[in-house]
Amino acid sequence: MAKKFETPILVTKSAMPSLQHYMEYLQEIWNTRILTNNGPLHTRLEKKLEEYLKVPNVTMFTNGHLGLDCAIRALNLKGEVITTPFTFVSTTHAISMNGLKPVFCDIKMSDYTMDESKIEGLINENTCAIVPVHVYGHPCNVEKIQEIADKYHLAVIYDAAHAFGVEVDGKGIAEFGDLSMFSFHATKVFNTIEGGAVTYRNGEYKKQLNLLKNFGISGPEDIDIIGLNAKMNEFQAAMGLANLETIDEKILNRKQAYTTYLEKLAEVPGLRFVKLADNITQNYSYMPVLVEEDKFGKTRDQLFDALAEYNVFARKYFYPLISNTEAYADVDADVPVAQYVSDRILCLPLYGDMTVAEVMQICDIIREIQQK
Ligand SMILES: *Cc1c(COP(=O)(O)O)cnc(C)c1O
Repeated sequence: MAKKFETPILVTKSAMPSLQHYMEYLQEIWNTRILTNNGPLHTRLEKKLEEYLKVPNVTMFTNGHLGLDCAIRALNLKGEVITTPFTFVSTTHAISMNGLKPVFCDIKMSDYTMDESKIEGLINENTCAIVPVHVYGHPCNVEKIQEIADKYHLAVIYDAAHAFGVEVDGKGIAEFGDLSMFSFHATKVFNTIEGGAVTYRNGEYKKQLNLLKNFGISGPEDIDIIGLNAKMNEFQAAMGLANLETIDEKILNRKQAYTTYLEKLAEVPGLRFVKLADNITQNYSYMPVLVEEDKFGKTRDQLFDALAEYNVFARKYFYPLISNTEAYADVDADVPVAQYVSDRILCLPLYGDMTVAEVMQICDIIREIQQK
């Protein structure tokens, strides 16, 4: 008999430094009395992230969504944007709220990222950009996507919300595309409570992004462009600096939990996992499992409900598919693979200080549910 957890295991648990350590950073804020607007902690974190993410330019934002919004605005796009319906709705909203039309491209069964072989079929004279998502931190086919973008003169903005610290052949994932957005939300691998950043190789975007996130203000008497307020404050930056100190440890621990899941669930019929490529440095941000009823004997929803009875709270992520939501009911979509995956995917609990014992117990529970 698999044991029920006494206290609920949630799908994620936010990374936090010790209170004492966070207070050391807060003391600096009390010393400077600078709470926001490009304070010293903000500047330090931006520098450290440029190193960690291996990219020449990082601009931080109050959250990832507004970062993506400003990245799109910075490019002054008009027309249609090819994107994926298998994402968090932030991606699609950022496109739509900029007056652009999202065009949904299907995904690949192998890693759930945009199917690059289907992009060209969606391009027309109105297409201006591609906004793919590194889903669960799995890198898109960045080379092929760039080839297509070059051929048709399209911009590429990556939603890299899940991909903090991911590398392809030793290169930071932020190296690819024109701009990338990382989310530092409480639920992500690296958090600044709420927060996010836009990264880019071309330094010319820096001025525009800094204007966009601060009301378009360039000086005490100058307002150059129409902008919004999307600045990161010093308390967020403090959390980021403290969390960055332990990020490698946390990712290593996630890897151990992830590997334990794979080993313990390998023999369970009807569970499918993404095969991770060797040339990728992963961040193990999520533990997605595809539940195929014909072999598992139960649907994803049945597994989800049964897990809750053992106090294990998984998440149907991403479900529903964005193209099936009320908000995007008027956008056509021919995305059978995304539909299949969205109806069967389940993210199991995974976080930076998860123990191997917790993972083993969850795996025992899953096996018990399957055999019932
Ligand atoms: C978290 C997330 C976002 C939005 O980030 P916030 O920091 O919460 O605004 C965007 N896209 C994806 C895929 C995400 O998972």
